[in-house]
Amino acid sequence: MRKLNFNAGPATLPESVLQEAARAVLEYKDTGISILELSHRSKEFADIVAESKLLVKELCGLDDSYEVVWMHGGGRMQFAMIPMNFASEHNAAGYIDSGHWSEEALEYAAFYGDVQILATSKDDNYSRLPHWPSSVPDRLAYLHFTTNNTICGTQWHHIPATNVPLIADMSSDIFSMRHNYTNYSLFYAAAQKNVGAAGVALVVIRKDMLKRIVRPLPPMLNYKQQAHENSILNTANVSGVYTSLLMLRWIKEKGIDAIEKENKEKAALLYDALDNSKTFTPTVTERSHRSLMNVCFTADTPEHEKEFLALCAQNNITGIKGHRSVGGFRASLYNAIPLAAVEKLVQLIKTNP
Ligand SMILES: *Cc1c(COP(=O)(O)O)cnc(C)c1O
Repeated sequence: MRKLNFNAGPATLPESVLQEAARAVLEYKDTGISILELSHRSKEFADIVAESKLLVKELCGLDDSYEVVWMHGGGRMQFAMIPMNFASEHNAAGYIDSGHWSEEALEYAAFYGDVQILATSKDDNYSRLPHWPSSVPDRLAYLHFTTNNTICGTQWHHIPATNVPLIADMSSDIFSMRHNYTNYSLFYAAAQKNVGAAGVALVVIRKDMLKRIVRPLPPMLNYKQQAHENSILNTANVSGVYTSLLMLRWIKEKGIDAIEKENKEKAALLYDALDNSKTFTPTVTERSHRSLMNVCFTADTPEHEKEFLALCAQNNITGIKGHRSVGGFRASLYNAIPLAAVEKLVQLIKTNP
């Protein structure tokens, strides 16, 4: 039986997407070969890439001033590529440090240039968002931030315009709500949360950024060459990109407005149950900072924590243990988690003393 999977990533995928992906593993369309065997230089894969690029632009409301690229290496490869391409000793980079992933991103950046931390909530254990910097030095190569803090359970719900190129790690909340993507000079998402399966990363970059690359780089690590080669600079993750295309079609069919509405409903239901529970406490107390995607909470005693994990397991629920760095619980409510799964979880929260 399929479990109710609240894992933070790799995350649950819609059953219809899994069925279609499974069919393609046996035979892709009428090609007589599996998607796992399909050449990255085939006409079929060119069509997959072309449709996926169109869908990304459509869902994000972007015109042709942006390039869409599928890359390898997940989120962390982007942590490295961004400073490699745009930062140096002469081009300092700004970072907003709002949690585990933004901290890791800025650690990677320190290899390639001067890093300025413009805001941080580290002293509060990242249980709230830092204040967005009131001013950003004009000479910064870019400002990097994380739209949704997957591990700490906070999310930026309002993103001010900035005077330098804004770069967003949207790994855990892309396509989850209406959003002004034109704020960004570059945004990216590791696929395994809201975009598809692990092994690919979606990168969207404004074309003018390709003129700002500060150092010679091997082609694989150079955004300009990646964009120029249309996601097939090397042997692409064909099945991974195809799975992402299936997700993009699913998102389009459902519609971003309906997805946002349902995501808000799911999160409200869960936070409300936690706020009213004697046993459980949500980790993020500032309501306007709470993530709609990753709901973090704790139990009052280690015994209750154990009991609740066992209760979840008995009820076919998996993936709600908190990240190893913070403990407690985390329920990830990505687009593919149905409302009924959240209702089930809430029912368990309410029955537990
Ligand atoms: C999951 C995640 C990452 C890391 O992705 P990898 O593909 O494992 O490198 C980066 N940023 C955020 C916000 C994430 O949620």
